[in-house]
Amino acid sequence: MELIQYFYSLIPPRISYKDYIDIIILSMIFYRVIVLVQGTSSVQIMLGGIFLVTIYFLADYFHLIALYYTLDLFFSSLVVILVVLFSNDLRRGLASFNFIGFKWRNISLADPYFFDRLYQACEYFTTHKIGSLIVLEKKHSLKHYAHSGTILNARISSPLLVSIFNKDSPLHDGAILINRKLSLYAAACILPLTARINLNIKMGTRHRSAIGISEETDCLAVVVSEENGCISFFENGKQELIELCDFKEKLKKRLLSP
Ligand code: ATP
Ligand code: MG
Repeated sequence: MELIQYFYSLIPPRISYKDYIDIIILSMIFYRVIVLVQGTSSVQIMLGGIFLVTIYFLADYFHLIALYYTLDLFFSSLVVILVVLFSNDLRRGLASFNFIGFKWRNISLADPYFFDRLYQACEYFTTHKIGSLIVLEKKHSLKHYAHSGTILNARISSPLLVSIFNKDSPLHDGAILINRKLSLYAAACILPLTARINLNIKMGTRHRSAIGISEETDCLAVVVSEENGCISFFENGKQELIELCDFKEKLKKRLLSP
């Protein structure tokens, strides 16, 4: 009850233009947080949080002292708890602020055949069952991961991608990174494996590292499986199986849509 009264006391008697600005800024922050955590495990954490807040109010209302004070203690350290729980999303969000106006639509204009070349390479990989992992950078920089491999800064071409993922190539193990300049930034990069435990037991490290990088950054990861030639897109830790005939259209949709 005290808490409800406290919230009431926060409401000013008259709403001024400052309050409107206050509410607009807060709504924008909430909106960005929701967009950021959408489809990630943070949603479950948020639902858990809402559940605890409900219990907290009920405990206060029904005077369940032990429960109320335990939760009160928990909420008093909330900032630290939130930073720990949402560290991945916070890192992603803060990193993306640098390139808030960045759009793939603009950079792809510089090279209209970029998608064709990527498609040709993936067509080769899927028909010849050649395992590959291609990560496309968006707002979040992939520089940190590039340094685990070999920096190339090369112009993308289908034969170059095919020769990199050829089994005899010294750079075939690991991922290639494509940066915001549409360059083949680095090859043979080691990506973080996802910490998720509820995955199909048959899923190997190539797919797990694609989930990992798409959880840690806002990138789009494209995987072709060596075992079955299947193409998958990974974004926000989620996998989508892609038919070759839809490849170009779906790739463009994911990268170019606002
Ligand atoms: P596939 O369907 O192609 O077999 P998979 O998901 O079953 O893929 P693995 O069979 O374990 O995965 O594939 C191993 C290959 O994945 C390695 O040879 C390497 O090229 C790549 N790989 C494994 N771990 C990583 C990592 N952490 N970062 C980048 N690439 C990785
Ligand atoms: Mg495998």
